[in-house]
Amino acid sequence: MNIDGKLISTKRKDELKMKVDQLKNEGKRIPQLTVILVGDNQASQTYVRNKERACTYVGMLSQVIRLEESTSEGVLIDIIEKLNQDDTVDGILVQLPLPSHIHEDKILDLIDPAKDVDGFHPSNVAKLLLGQDGLVPCTPKGMMVLLDEINYDLTGKEVVVVGRSNIVGKPVSLLCLQRNATVTIAHSRTQDLPQVCKRADVLIAAIGKAKFFNRDYVKEGAVILDVGINRDENNKLCGDVDYEDVKDIVSYITPVPGGVGPMTIAMLMENTLDAYLKREG
Ligand code: NAP
Repeated sequence: MNIDGKLISTKRKDELKMKVDQLKNEGKRIPQLTVILVGDNQASQTYVRNKERACTYVGMLSQVIRLEESTSEGVLIDIIEKLNQDDTVDGILVQLPLPSHIHEDKILDLIDPAKDVDGFHPSNVAKLLLGQDGLVPCTPKGMMVLLDEINYDLTGKEVVVVGRSNIVGKPVSLLCLQRNATVTIAHSRTQDLPQVCKRADVLIAAIGKAKFFNRDYVKEGAVILDVGINRDENNKLCGDVDYEDVKDIVSYITPVPGGVGPMTIAMLMENTLDAYLKREG
């Protein structure tokens, strides 16, 4: 059965909209997300537009700072430092990737952790590892919401996460561990990947390879969360999982598009409201 991320994300955004409306009715300040976009990467432009649209949908303020590709690291640092000090800004998001002359880690480290709505700052990463309350990366957080929506209890379940990136694989593994799953993190050096994946009650596919996981990798009745966003041989959007091949043997699967993807932006909105509420005390 499909897990309808589009529907679930709309539901979450509608709930957020009600909370933001409430703030407005009480005459309170409106939460604001600021996105910094350096250069003219087409995909990044689309992502940023979608973030602006989502802010408008839930009634939050958004500001996009668009900078030339040639912007120096120093200029970007100055802008972030000003945003850190700006009390009207609740969330700061630097759209990645940055041009190669700018050090991504250095920039992400500068963002005030309380405004780090992507959850990429080392302080938020450490909080996630320690099980403390912090801002959690949006895509992994969205996946937990999808599991909640199907009332899936991870306790004691075998979760196999394929992919160990800082933005998806590692954080989602930690979230599953927090929920008492037995977690395996697999990657490009893992031996006998099909056998490892076949152990999974929940298979999380996050490698960025079109239709890589067919039924040789899937245990009957498994839940599959497909994070991949790829183009197939016909240039159609597809996930890392061969949906047609596995759909009849799984219990639940997130389609691509319309599964994990829409949740990411809804969680960004939630993180912005969380950051606002914590800052407002
Ligand atoms: P990434 O940084 O490129 O990491 C890919 C991971 O997959 C690496 O850990 C790599 O292993 C592993 N891998 C690659 N080929 C493999 C193979 N053949 N077998 C086993 N492991 C393999 O990717 P990412 O940023 O995590 O993104 C993964 C996918 O999710 C992409 O398609 C991306 O577009 C998508 N994504 C979607 C969303 C969303 O909102 N839905 C958000 C973020 C990303 P090594 O570490 O050994 O190299």
